[in-house]
Amino acid sequence: MEEDTIKIKDLIIIGAGPAGMTAGIYAKRSNLNPLIIESKMPGGRVVLTDFVENYPAFPEGISGQELAGLIESQCRNFGVEFENFVKVDLIEKDDNTFKLKTNKGDFFSKTVIVATGANPAELGIPGEREFRGRGVSYCATCDGPLFKNKNILVIGGGDSAVQEAIFLTKFASSVRVVHRRDKLRAKKILQEKAFNNPKIEILWNSNLLEIKGENSVERAVILNNKTNQKREIKIDGVFMYVGIKPNSSLVKNLVELNEKNSIITDYKMRTSVPGLFATGDVRNTPLKQIVTANSDGAIAAISAEEYLEYELR
Ligand code: NAP
Repeated sequence: MEEDTIKIKDLIIIGAGPAGMTAGIYAKRSNLNPLIIESKMPGGRVVLTDFVENYPAFPEGISGQELAGLIESQCRNFGVEFENFVKVDLIEKDDNTFKLKTNKGDFFSKTVIVATGANPAELGIPGEREFRGRGVSYCATCDGPLFKNKNILVIGGGDSAVQEAIFLTKFASSVRVVHRRDKLRAKKILQEKAFNNPKIEILWNSNLLEIKGENSVERAVILNNKTNQKREIKIDGVFMYVGIKPNSSLVKNLVELNEKNSIITDYKMRTSVPGLFATGDVRNTPLKQIVTANSDGAIAAISAEEYLEYELR
């Protein structure tokens, strides 16, 4: 690699969610000159969260958008450089330099932190793709206001499904949570709120089999998996919250992934490739929270600094 003909950064961070931006703050304070590359605008998935109640230092809670904005401001105050609307398709390693292939040309760096997060998973049923944007949604914050006085389904029983079901009661006249088991996975505090909300009904032991309609969502076929009875109900919208899938495809040929396609890291956020680190929801984290993503970001930045200082000769 000819260093004098191409610009090689010390550190490129891919993804400007809480994990990536916190890595930026810590790297900048360690005298590195990090560049954060983001495929959209800074913020990450947290901007789609209506309200964050469990992030320390905000006793009354804070909107996801405001929290992401504050982290971004802190980054910019330290002089962290951002490149927005740059999508990294693939990362290759040649000698000790990483090449990032993007829609805006190639970027080069001695270390890389992958902080690309995760996206909502699809359920994979008939009608889901057909009616996406016409009644099927993966984002209550974005689309909730379109369902004023409507009857909607929320699919899933995790934190996202229950939290967003509660949020959607601000608009919808009824919210039915379709969950495949007889127990929710969501945190107890969210469960209590849902159970006490008169607009929420939980359809236990139920699977959504199909979404039907003419131009938009009109009906849903639901199976009770205990009684094996199917029924078709009238609805106006379906919000899918059946888990998330890590955005790891850009490194799938380079680093070790687990069975869920999460990037495997050690406690220092090191991947199987020296100089490449991963943080937040894209890695094999035991807890997918903003606060743990931030922690990952801080650790990854310090590990990248150590790598540049002691291992890269
Ligand atoms: P999740 O915890 O993986 O929950 C996914 C839900 O979808 C589960 O209830 C699961 O059912 C159900 N599901 C999965 N595949 C299904 C299928 N094929 N058919 C029917 N149902 C299916 O995902 P998440 O709720 O999006 O949360 C992701 C992470 O973000 C979690 O770590 C969560 O704690 C975190 N998060 C935290 C907060 C918060 O702290 N306020 C808010 C949102 C998200 P089973 O339960 O039967 O497996």
